[in-house]
Amino acid sequence: MEKTAVERCPLCGEKSASGTFRACDRLHGLPGAFTAAKCSGCSSLYLKDVPRDPGAYYPEGKYYSTYDSNTHELRTKKKIIGLYYSGRSGRGLSYYLLYPLKDRVQGIPDFVPGGRALDVGCGSGLILDLLKSAGWETHGIDTSASAIELVRKKGHNGVCGEFRDELFRPGYFDAVIMSHSIEHVKDPPGYLGLAFGKLKPGGQLVLVAPNACSLGFRLFGKAWTHVDAPRHVCVPSVRGMTAMLRKAGFSVESVVYTGCGWSQSLDYLVNGSHTPGSFFYRPFIKTPLEALAQALNVLKLGDFFQIKARKRETNAP
Ligand SMILES: [Zn+2]
Repeated sequence: MEKTAVERCPLCGEKSASGTFRACDRLHGLPGAFTAAKCSGCSSLYLKDVPRDPGAYYPEGKYYSTYDSNTHELRTKKKIIGLYYSGRSGRGLSYYLLYPLKDRVQGIPDFVPGGRALDVGCGSGLILDLLKSAGWETHGIDTSASAIELVRKKGHNGVCGEFRDELFRPGYFDAVIMSHSIEHVKDPPGYLGLAFGKLKPGGQLVLVAPNACSLGFRLFGKAWTHVDAPRHVCVPSVRGMTAMLRKAGFSVESVVYTGCGWSQSLDYLVNGSHTPGSFFYRPFIKTPLEALAQALNVLKLGDFFQIKARKRETNAP
C-alpha cells in the first residue's frame, strides 16, 4: 500500500507531537498499520502516514449501513426538530421549550424559512431527511455511490464524488452541514474554505466531529473507537477546530458535546477489533454507558463535539 507522509498537524500546522502511537483498522480488520500523533500545538490527533488511495478502507455497503438502523430514534428526532422549527415560525412555545434539546440532535442548523441546506458527507441522508421534513431544500454530496442512490430515491438532490469548488453555486446555501466528514479529509482548511464559498454571507456551518480531548480517548487510547485509522485522517480538538474556523472567516457561535462510543471502544480494547454480538453491546451494559456519556458531555469530555459557526459578512475578525 502506498502512503503519503504527513509532516505537520493538518489543523494548526504545528510540526511537533506530544506523543505517537500505532493504529490499525479495528472496524473491518483490514491490513495495515499507521502512525498517529497528538499535536503539541492544538492537541488534535492526526495520522502521519495516510494511504494514497483510501478507497479500500470504505467497503461499499458497510460503512453507512448503521445510520438508518434505529427508526424509533429517527422518528423522535423528527418530532423534536419539527416542533422546534414550528415554534420558531411563530406557532407556539415549543421553540423555547425545545431549545436545549435541539443541539443534541446532531447536524441540525438554525431555522431558515425556505432555507437551502447542503450536507457534505451525507451518507444515506439521515440529516437531509430531518431537514426535508421541516421544509428545507436539501442537497447532499458523498463519495459512496450506493449512499447517493438512496439519497436521491428519498427525494433529495444528491451528488456522488469529492466536495469540489465547481460542484455547487457560490453563495447559494443558508446552511452547510459537515457531520462526521471533516475527520476523513487530508486538507481540513481547504475543505472549510469550500464550505465558506458555498454559503451566503451570514450563512451557518454546522460541524460535528470526534473530540480528540474526550475522556474516551484518554481512557482507551488507540482502542478508542474514533481513532478509526486510516479513515480518520485527523481527529480535531475543539481548540484546533475553532482556531481553524476563525482563520477561514467564520464566527464561532456555539460548541456542544454529544454522543458516545464506549461500547465499541470497550469491544476494541478487550477483543482487539469489532466483534458483533460482543458482551459490551448488550443493553444492560450499553444503557448505563449512554447515561454516563450524557454526564461527560456536560463536562466537555464527550466523544463528539458540535460547532455552529457563521460566515462573517466582512473580513473583520
Ligand atoms: Zn495542531
